[in-house]
Formats: sequence, structure tokens, C-alpha cells
Amino acid sequence: MSCAVSEGGVSNPPWPDGLENPSSDGEKCGLAHPGSCERETASHNRQNFDNPHFAFEIHVTDWSPFDLPLTDPRHPFHLEHMAMALDEARAAEAEDEVPIGCVIVSLKKGVIGKAHNQRETLKDPTAHAEMIAITQAAQAMESWRLEQCILYVTLEPCPMCAGAIVLARLPMVVYGCTDPKAGACDTLFRITNDPRLNHRAQVIGGVLAEECGGILSAFFAAKRRG
Ligand SMILES: [Zn+2]
Repeated sequence: MSCAVSEGGVSNPPWPDGLENPSSDGEKCGLAHPGSCERETASHNRQNFDNPHFAFEIHVTDWSPFDLPLTDPRHPFHLEHMAMALDEARAAEAEDEVPIGCVIVSLKKGVIGKAHNQRETLKDPTAHAEMIAITQAAQAMESWRLEQCILYVTLEPCPMCAGAIVLARLPMVVYGCTDPKAGACDTLFRITNDPRLNHRAQVIGGVLAEECGGILSAFFAAKRRG
């Protein structure tokens, strides 16, 4: 009898690389579908896509962003939260503040910090988006340790904020555009990756970089026009 699933055109996504395929120990097809299936289990693996019998599967295995590791700047988790940080940057712009936004996400609790630059409003040189968001996040976690949290910021953190990231034990920092004047994660300094310090964060730059840089350029261009 032929395999009803393979002929029905049902999307049958490939098992992700690196994960054990639960259907791989049996000799027969592990899928639950009517009738007996003579197809060998190995047919569900990517390696067999050159088999014309499974031609439709080639179509459904188009590259998916959900296959990306979290270390990839194109990961949809990063894009979604950077878009949120961009909304914060726009809120700063509306207050005539330099448009920089920050979001902190706990992998257990979700978004626990969301802030924008308020240096002028608060008349405080330390009121950078990251500093405010880190304080919010620490209150939400009831701890100064922000383990299992990711910080998203539209501009590469400065030395002060990179220092705060290290102190907060944040394991991952994702930023939008680089800052050639004060960037302290990649550009001028690498504070978040300095082996002399007692904590290092994984740094991912360039997420929605064009949008993050564009809002800053537009803000300063408008200022110059007066
Ligand atoms: Zn800063």
C-alpha cells in the first residue's frame, strides 16, 4: 500500500539538524496515518530528498528563519525585539531625545525592561536607554543578576552601559548599528568580551542596523537644519 501522507501533499517538515528524530529507530514509517506504510523511516530524513518519490518535500523544505540558531542576527526572536527597541527609540525622538531604545527579555518571563534615552528629560548623564532598562529588569527579576536575559539596544552600547551589562551578568547583547564614537562592545572597546573581567556576554551586532542607524541620522540631520 502506498503512503497516504506522502501523496496527500501534507507539509511534513524535516527534522531539525542536531535533534534526535523520534521516528528513526523503527524500520517502518513512524508517522500516524492510515494503512500500513512500506516506506522506510529514513525516507523522512533530509538526505533522501533527491528521491523523486518525495519531490514535494523539496518544496516544503525551503529555508526557514526558525531553523536559525539564536546566535544568528537574522533570527526572528531578535528581529521582533529589536523592532520593539526601535519603537522605544521613536518614543525618545518624540521627546526630543537622541533616539535610542532598549528592551530586555527574560527567557522565562518575557519582556522585563523597555526604555529609551532620557538624558535631557532627567538631566542625568547616566540616563541611557540601557541603564534605565537594566534597572527595570533587575526590579522585575528581584535580583541584580540578569541571567537568562537578552538585552536589545538600537545602538552599540557605550563604555558605561557595556560596564553595566557585565555587572548585570547579562549573557547576551544584541545591538542594531555600531557606534564609531563610543561603541564599547565591538568598535572602540570590547568591554563585554574582555577576558580580564569576571563576566563576558555574547554580542550580536547589526540587527535591523539600517533602521536603527536611519532614525539617528534623521534626528541629527533635523537638528543641523535647526
Ligand atoms: Zn550608554
